[in-house]
Order: sequence, then structure tokens, then C-alpha cells
Amino acid sequence: MAYTYKNCIHMLLLLITCLCLNKVIVTGRLVHIQQRTRTNGLVNFLAVGDWGRKGKFNQSLVAHVMGEVGAKLGIDFVISTGDNFYKDGLSGVNDSNFTESFTKVYTARSLQKPWYAVLGNHDYHGNTMAQLSPSLKMHDKRWNCHRSYIVQAGFVHVFFVDTSPFVNKYFVTHPANNFNWAGVLPRDRYLSNILKDLDTALKRSNAIWKIVVGHHPIRSIGKRGDTKELLHQLLPILEANKVPIYINGHDHCLEHINNTRIPIEFLTSGGGSRAWGNITHYERYKENLKFYYDGQGFLSVQFTRSQASIAFYDVFGKTLHSFKLKNHVRND
Ligand SMILES: [Zn+2]
Repeated sequence: MAYTYKNCIHMLLLLITCLCLNKVIVTGRLVHIQQRTRTNGLVNFLAVGDWGRKGKFNQSLVAHVMGEVGAKLGIDFVISTGDNFYKDGLSGVNDSNFTESFTKVYTARSLQKPWYAVLGNHDYHGNTMAQLSPSLKMHDKRWNCHRSYIVQAGFVHVFFVDTSPFVNKYFVTHPANNFNWAGVLPRDRYLSNILKDLDTALKRSNAIWKIVVGHHPIRSIGKRGDTKELLHQLLPILEANKVPIYINGHDHCLEHINNTRIPIEFLTSGGGSRAWGNITHYERYKENLKFYYDGQGFLSVQFTRSQASIAFYDVFGKTLHSFKLKNHVRND
């Protein structure tokens, strides 16, 4: 009994800590986080994915360059596009992989900002509840991870979508499919709630820029390619709500593809550590492919009210590709 009481007090303290660090509001089924913004009219962030390998496979090198670019741009926050901890997520809230792959790697001063993460398929191999737990903030206060949620950063709203449960093959009974679906089942209801909540939230949002982030690509020519479930289920919502940018990881590369109908920029940032997976679907989008780099790196986005500037970097900090968007219309 005393132990239970102690646990309750501990959880209450954690909740108070979380509420103090970030303004977290839960409306309906979606968590809303208010990200503090500056008065200079800019909202800047970096996006990196597929990284947690205890510094190996150039993760530390990417982190170092992120620190330099982050300082130059004066970033407000960092987005993680998922597969945060290899190879099987976190085993619990005290798994040393959290500090060894996150806290001890992204040490640059400019990266000591809130990190907003989604879960990737590898994260679902582990204890997903641990990775979503506010207890992780006791180890590193930068960490924010929910399944699907919204970060409101002034005139920019970022909508995070939990994409792994959409992928049919992860639900096929197979010895290699060791996914932990606690909190997701029944699947049909979970997916329809995500789509309904996202559509409603996008329609209600009065942000100038509404962007969507998920782990899996909608369109990709990389090793893993398109996610057909997202093409059919998520893309129509993005198109209907005129979302100008979708950012993902999963394919371990850097990539920029245009939509084939209504303008959407598909940006893959999955080069946080192990890369070089080869182009395997080049023919599919050769008309719409703007950029592909098969190695490690990350991207930056700088928003003003009227313009978005996007740039991709390699491990040496070289800008590999950049472009601007104005009023949701491409302006190269
Ligand atoms: Zn993945």
C-alpha cells in the first residue's frame, strides 16, 4: 500500500515537472504542446531521423554538424522523425540506451532545446510506453514523445502522426514481427481516430504554416519506398487541407520529392546514423524527384510568415540541396 502511495506521489511530481517544462494541454485525443517562440518573426528547427546507435555509424558526426547549423540558424526546437533507439527501442525508462544514444550524443549548446519525436517501427519493438513516458524528462528534460500530437509554435503548427500502426505487414504473424502494440489495439479504431483527429485539428488550426511529420514516407525512391497505406489513407487528408510539407524518416537517406497532384513537398530526413541503402525505386518518381542523397545528414527549416527555407546537409555541414516555398507554392 505504502509503495503504491509512493508511486502516486512520484507520478504526480513527474506530471508537475512536465507541465512546468512545457505547456501541455490535452484536448480530445490529441496532446497539444505550446512551443515558446521568439519575437523576431522566425520559427526555425532541424529534423533528423533513424539515429539512436550510441554515436556509431556517424551519428556523432551528424550530431556535431547539427550543433553548428543549429547555432548558426538559432533553432527553436529539433524534430526526430522516429526510429529513435536501435535496434529495439527502449526496454524501460532506465534503459541506458536513452542517455548513450541521445543525451551523450546531442551535446551541442544549440541543441539544448525541446526535441519532438515520433515513434518509428524499431521503437515499437521495445517498451513503447517507456519511450512515451514523461519519466524520461527526469533523465533529459529536452525529450518529448507522444504517439500523435500537435506542437504549436506561433504561426507554425506541426502535426505529428504515429504511422507504424498503418503498415499492414507489421501485423502479419511472423517470428520476426516482435511489435509491441500495447495502446494501439483494436487497430481499426486506433487508425480511424488518428485520421479523424488529424483532419479536425488541421481544419481548426489557424496557423499560417501547417506541416505534418510521420516516421514512414508517403513517397520515396529509397530502399523502403512508398508506404502504400499512407498513400491511400493519409495523403488525401494532407491534400484536402493543403498541407505544404510532409517530413518523414524510415528510408536512411535525404530526399525531396514533389507531390504528383496538389503541391506537397515530401522531405525525407532519415540519415541520422546508418545510411547508404541505395536507390531502388528511381523510375517511380523521376519526374518529381528534386533531390536524393544516399548518405547521412539532416535538414533545417526556417519559417517566416510568408516564406519557408529548407536545406539538407551532409556530415561535413555542406548544403546539398535547398529551396524556398512562398505562400504554400514552390518558388525555386
Ligand atoms: Zn523505420
